[in-house]
Amino acid sequence: MPFLSETLARVSPSPTVAVTQKAMELKAAGHDVIGLGAGEPDFDTPDTIKAAAIAAIEAGKTKYTPVDGIPEVKKAICDKFLRDNDLHYTPSQITVSTGGKQVLYNALLATLNPADEVIIPAPYWVSYPDMVRLGGGTPVIVETALENGFRLTPEALEAAITPKTKWFIFNSPSNPTGAGYTRDALKALTEVLMRHPHVWVMTDDMYEHLVFDGFEFCTPAQVEPGLYDRTLTVNGVSKAYAMTGWRIGYAAGPEHLIAAMRKLQSQSTTNPCSISQWATVEALNGPQDFLSERCEVFRKRRDLVVEALNSAIGITCAVPEGAFYVYPSIEGCIGKTSARGTLIDTDEAFATALLEEQGVAVVFGAAFGLSPYFRVSYATSDALLAEACRRIQTFCAGLN
Ligand code: GLU
Repeated sequence: MPFLSETLARVSPSPTVAVTQKAMELKAAGHDVIGLGAGEPDFDTPDTIKAAAIAAIEAGKTKYTPVDGIPEVKKAICDKFLRDNDLHYTPSQITVSTGGKQVLYNALLATLNPADEVIIPAPYWVSYPDMVRLGGGTPVIVETALENGFRLTPEALEAAITPKTKWFIFNSPSNPTGAGYTRDALKALTEVLMRHPHVWVMTDDMYEHLVFDGFEFCTPAQVEPGLYDRTLTVNGVSKAYAMTGWRIGYAAGPEHLIAAMRKLQSQSTTNPCSISQWATVEALNGPQDFLSERCEVFRKRRDLVVEALNSAIGITCAVPEGAFYVYPSIEGCIGKTSARGTLIDTDEAFATALLEEQGVAVVFGAAFGLSPYFRVSYATSDALLAEACRRIQTFCAGLN
């Protein structure tokens, strides 16, 4: 009898977390490594949010809380959905967990049965398919293409739906491509979903506030109110408010789904960190003007990176609408050999050789389900980005 579970054997460790840790270890050991792997803003958490957390500690808010969130944070989340997304929710429709990751995990584990299928457009954030597998379901991967801006077409969505489809996972702006769906593009998808009333929508809106050039963010239940009763709208404070380590994600959806997720969470982590919940109240209720200032910083970095990568031999990089990622194609590098003699036959080989030969850490495309590409997280300083891009150009120029 094996000691480890068969369920665990169906999944792999998170590649984004692995690359981030590897880059940190190499740096700590004194290596000259630039990490473009971590999906984490380099900004600090705003002082007002830190102050709210300190005040919560001093006021003794250090005990268990209701499983899926204190009333104050649920109220702040309801207000946020109304303010930003025109969505009306009551506190009983809100759940708060330890990061967006736990929200998604709770929702999938609370709802999936063995024959269930979950449609996931590729490239996807690495954890979606593995969470589906952990829940005993089957991920149905639908590839998108660089030529379509990495956006799923309504035809491809329609073709992927079967009687077994339970969820459609939607993510805009996307991790790892930064691709955003306009209202019209999203409406074309929601029209398909309206024809299939058994399909539920899980929308991961984590990058909502990171959009550029006047792009208008929208979310499925807002674009098509007919989907409200079968949509779980997921969001969190990690990316917009630079609060990754605080671990707070949240979602809104039908009460019976929220209750099922609460039941599951009551048997795992109980409540998310009490201090982080109070910090989140301040994040959502407090000043929001720094969001657009930080967006402008990210927009400039995006432009810097896209231009520099497009001048690397063999690389083609699209201009994304949001998030802090680009997803360049390395089609023109495949089959070549690196300066130190490594055959670049896959995007994993490319990323490994780039780290070993030039000290730049990126995540290879196969991890996100679409090759040959790699993901760059440009949430780091302009100086480091410029140096990293210079090294990527050198690496590509050395391929033959
Ligand atoms: N979501 C971030 C990323 O894609 C953080 C790491 C993770 O949880 O995957 O890099």
